Amino acid sequence: MAVPYEKIPFAGTVKSPQKENEGMITGNWRTRRPILDAEKCTECQICWISCPDSCVNLMTKDSPINFNLKYCKGCGLCAEMCPVGAISLVPELDFED
Ligand code: SF4
Ligand code: SF4
Repeated sequence: MAVPYEKIPFAGTVKSPQKENEGMITGNWRTRRPILDAEKCTECQICWISCPDSCVNLMTKDSPINFNLKYCKGCGLCAEMCPVGAISLVPELDFED
C-alpha cells in the first residue's frame, strides 16, 4: 500500500521493492562500475548486506557474486566495505555495453 511521504515518520524507513520497479532504476546514474576479482573474494557477503540498492546478487556457481547493473548506481559502498579489496570501480567509459 502506498504511503504519502508526509505520513512517513521522521527517520522512518521505506520498504524496498521486492521485484523489478521501472520507477526506481538508478543504473543510469553510474559513472563507475563495480568489478569483482573472484580470486580474492572470500564469499563473506559483506558487500551484499552493504549495498543500499540491493543490487549485489549472490550466486551459487560461476561467480560468488554479481551486480545488477540496472540498479547499481556506482556509489562504491560495496568496494569500501569489502575486507579483502575484491571489488574495484572501473570508469563506465571503459565498457562498450
Ligand atoms: S556500487 Fe553501490 S549500488 Fe553498486 S553494487 Fe556497489 S554498493 Fe551497490
Ligand atoms: S565483501 Fe568482498 S570478499 Fe566479501 S563477498 Fe563481497 S566481494 Fe567477496
